[in-house]
Amino acid sequence: MSRRRRIYEGKAKVLYEGPEPGTLIQHFKDDATAFNNKKHDVIDGKGVLNNRISEYVFLKLNEIGVPTHFIKRLNMREQLIREVEIIPLEVVVRNVAAGSLSTRLGIEEGTQLPRSIIEFYYKNDALNDPLVSEEHITAFGWATTQEIDDIIALAIRVNDFLSGLFLGVGIRLVDFKMECGRLWEGDMMRIVVADEISPDSCRLWDIKSNDKLDKDRFRRDMGGLVEAYSEVARRLGIMTENERAQPGGPVLVKSEPDE
Ligand code: C5P
Repeated sequence: MSRRRRIYEGKAKVLYEGPEPGTLIQHFKDDATAFNNKKHDVIDGKGVLNNRISEYVFLKLNEIGVPTHFIKRLNMREQLIREVEIIPLEVVVRNVAAGSLSTRLGIEEGTQLPRSIIEFYYKNDALNDPLVSEEHITAFGWATTQEIDDIIALAIRVNDFLSGLFLGVGIRLVDFKMECGRLWEGDMMRIVVADEISPDSCRLWDIKSNDKLDKDRFRRDMGGLVEAYSEVARRLGIMTENERAQPGGPVLVKSEPDE
């Protein structure tokens, strides 16, 4: 295969130059990191699962008219996406108290919030992605007031849609993080959902047992991460038994039954 130009390498993904101008290839690695890279591991099969789950979510979002960067999945670890100008914010939507909200405000994990809460964090590893307000965002020019309005409207739509999608398969969407980008089409610019939406970037709890089916299994040393992500994929009807049995390899071919 010809060598592709690497545009950017993040903690869990790599971006390569795409086949056409304005496109990129997003490659999902097996690396798991937490606490701003202080905790790191390689978890065989995680990238394959996130690629598939994120593909599923972005396809559904595209279907209901929520604009995203996603074009199509290329193989077990890669997807073709539109090149966007990433807005340096992590947009977190919370439905139930957990994680940093619980720690910061002393609200017990699992408490239903009176309404969904949207928070912005400035994407900056050196600063540990600090929580910021709309004032900071506009004052420092990370996004305009109009763009913030568009991002909030997108976040509400994505939250409503994902909450229903997961509820339908017995999963509570506790919170999630999304990223947005500016997509330029000639002189026109739209804000679209970018990056990934997967169990790495969501908190997903089983409705009945409250079992965690997300990256908290890694953050909190609970084990069973691939099993949990596989369960999410299974419930969404994404991966077949055969594919799940081979998380590490790019094999899609069904094996022959034993004779
Ligand atoms: O840690 P915290 O409670 O602020 O996380 C809120 C949500 O955002 C969680 O679903 C978490 O997985 C996600 N998140 C993320 N990437 C980060 C920080 C948080 O995907 N850098």
